[in-house]
This record gives sequence, C-alpha cells and structure tokens, in this order.
Amino acid sequence: MSTAPSETRVSTLDDYNRVLGEAEIAELRTLAARLRGRSVQMINSTAVGGGVAEILNRMIPLMQELEVPTRWDVITGGEDFFAITKAFHNALHGEGFRMSDESFNTFLAYTEQNRARLQFDADFTVIHDPQPVALIDARPNGSGHWIWRCHIDLSQPNLKVWGFLAQSVNKYDGAIFSSPAFSRQLPIPQYLFYPSIDPLSEKNRELEPCVIEETLRRFQIDPARPIITQISRFDRLKDPVGVVRAYQIVKRYTDCQLVLAGGGATDDPEGDAVLAEVREAAGKDADIHILDLPPWSAVEINALQRASTIIVQKSLREGFGLTVTEGLWKKKPVVASAVGGIPSQVIHKHTGMLAHSIEGTAYQIRFLLSNPGIAQRLGEQGHEHVREHFLITSDVRRHLTLFLHYLREN
Ligand code: UDP
Repeated sequence: MSTAPSETRVSTLDDYNRVLGEAEIAELRTLAARLRGRSVQMINSTAVGGGVAEILNRMIPLMQELEVPTRWDVITGGEDFFAITKAFHNALHGEGFRMSDESFNTFLAYTEQNRARLQFDADFTVIHDPQPVALIDARPNGSGHWIWRCHIDLSQPNLKVWGFLAQSVNKYDGAIFSSPAFSRQLPIPQYLFYPSIDPLSEKNRELEPCVIEETLRRFQIDPARPIITQISRFDRLKDPVGVVRAYQIVKRYTDCQLVLAGGGATDDPEGDAVLAEVREAAGKDADIHILDLPPWSAVEINALQRASTIIVQKSLREGFGLTVTEGLWKKKPVVASAVGGIPSQVIHKHTGMLAHSIEGTAYQIRFLLSNPGIAQRLGEQGHEHVREHFLITSDVRRHLTLFLHYLREN
C-alpha cells in the first residue's frame, strides 16, 4: 500500500471560516458530529497527478479535522495494469478497445493483489473511478456501505469494457457521478456530486506578486505579452496539439505566448509519447513554453494560472475538468471545449467561452484578447460560480449528508 502525501501546510476549519463564512463551516461541524465514531476509507489509483488525487489530498485532512476518521489508500499495479486501466479509461470515453480478453483477467489479478494488501473495515468505503472498482468483492460479508464515485463521462462507453466493469459497479450501494449527463442506467441509486477545489491549497491560494514574477522569470515567460495557458497532463484527450494549432492561428494576428504545462500521473503510461508529439507540433517557436512539471508543482501551477491572460482547456473528452475550476476561481477568462463537466462550469458568455474546434478556440481567444473588459467580467462571474458550487467544503458536505442518509436507512 502506498500512502498518499499531504501538503506541508494543512488549512484548518478556522481558515475556511475566514474565506467562506461561518455558516458554511458550522453546518459541516453539525453534520460531522452526527457521524462521530464512524470511519471512512477512500481508495483510488494514484496519489499524485490528476483531479482525483487533487481532491483527496485536501478532503482527507478536512474530514480528519471534523473528527470523522478518514483513511486514503492507493492501489498499486505493474505497468501492464496501468496500460489496461488507461485503455479502459479511453474505451469508457468511447474509443475502441483493442486489448485481448486476457487483459480482463490481468485486471482482476491485480485487484486481488490489492485486496490482499489493503484492509477494509471502514463504515463507509468510497472507491474512486474504474481502476479499483472490482475491490467491491473484498467487502467483508456485505458489511459497511460501499459507494463508487465515478469521475469520468460514461455516457457513451465502449460496451465491452462497460459490460465488464458494470458487474462490479452493480454490487455497490450507490454511485456518484460528476454530472447528470455522465451517468448510466444502473440498478443502484445514483447521486450527483460536483468535484471541487480547495481555495486554500497551494494550488489555489492567493500568491504574492513576487512569487508570480519569479515563476515567470524561471520559465523565461515574458510578463509584458499575453499568456495563453493550458495546464494538463500530456494526454491526447486533453488535445495539447490542438491547443498549439489554435495558438498558431491566434499568433498570426496577435503577439502572444503559449504555456502548456503538465506532468504525468503515475497511472498514465502515455505521457512521454504525447509530450513528444506536442514538441514536434510546436517546432522552433520560442514563444511556446512546454513545461514538463514534477508532481510537487502546485505553487508553480498556481502562479502560471494567475499570470495568464487566458486559460484554455481544449479537451476532446473530459471528466469534470478541475483545471477549468482552478482558472475560474482565479478570475481568469476561460476558453474551453464543451465536453464532459466543462459546460457545468463554463456557461457560455457568462462565466467563460465554450468552443467546439481548433478554429473556434482560436476565435474565442482572439475575441477575449481584444475585449479585455468582457474578459474581466467573465472571470469575475466565473469566480462566483465556483464559490457557489465547486469548493471542497460543498464536496465534504455532500459526503457527510450521504453517509448520514445511509445510517438513517439502517
Ligand atoms: N495538475 C497538476 N500537475 C500537472 C497537471 C495537472 O497538478 O502537471 C492538476 C491540475 O492543476 C488539476 C488536476 O491536476 O488540479 C487535473 O484535474 P482535471 O480534472 O483537470 O483533469 P484529469 O487530469 O483528472 O483528467
């Protein structure tokens, strides 16, 4: 079992009081008090990289402070396991599945290894995403409450892969989806929980201007010219090459820079190949900054987002898209594809701009670069939208409420 890292400075509930107001935090304390003595276990497939790790990294300390003991376990597996789960991921997003039937057995063999390594004794077990989904068979004698939280869009899955995974999903007590559009017909209850960001994390807290300036200096980015940024793992579904193409169109009309920053997640074996494709597309343009960041780059990402003129998220498919949430929280105008959970966040012409193609993305970027007043208004409205719906405290509240619902049912 690998233990997930935590950030050096953990915010306290009092800190959230100051940012979000006392009423919201008091509500959390009241709900948590009713769960005293109950324990929670969260399980996912990576401690770093990607949105799920990002949420768990912040949610676990908050649950602890609310005195609901919460453990986070990360499943392990060999390269073959993560190649299979990545193929599952792509297939669930609608791509073909070209692996042999043997891969299903390999998947189950790794699940069995993790089952033997981990302990399952919590009152509430929340399993995140497909990689650990088959751990449901480790549930001791039907005890506890097991919930599957799915962060990806299941609306048009490859049916072979979904048929296999659904055998496990159907055994849970309930499933949580990030958007009504993501869900499937299931024989178990379904819940809608938006993913969330932590306004006080290193990734999202306010930064001194000198930290932002220093970050730009370090990466040799010019603060005097517009900066267009996409932060994402180097993953084809994030379409980094499409972002380069959109930037190249904009660049014909406006002098600007592109920042593509991201790293790999330990459960994503395709990162290096995609990075090479992006480098090739960028050619020798010195205004394209491709930053391969290590996992401990929260402050750098925060600074890059804050330094940006426009945040782009040109995904071809997307789960929720926490990078969009982060950009909106920083009051940035966001241009993003209308896929996955992005339209819940980017309400076209109100909290950002939606696009459907490379040309559309370029068009919206050009529009915002030439209309800074509109860009600013979108950013401010985006910030309020995030405050209302997508902060970690709302996510914690939804979990506590669901756990209480299960207790009442028994
Ligand atoms: N992220 C990061 N380092 C990177 C790339 C992404 O810390 O190199 C973070 C990013 O800031 C965001 C999360 O990982 O918090 C990505 O979540 P999102 O939902 O956008 O996409 P996912 O990677 O889960 O598909």
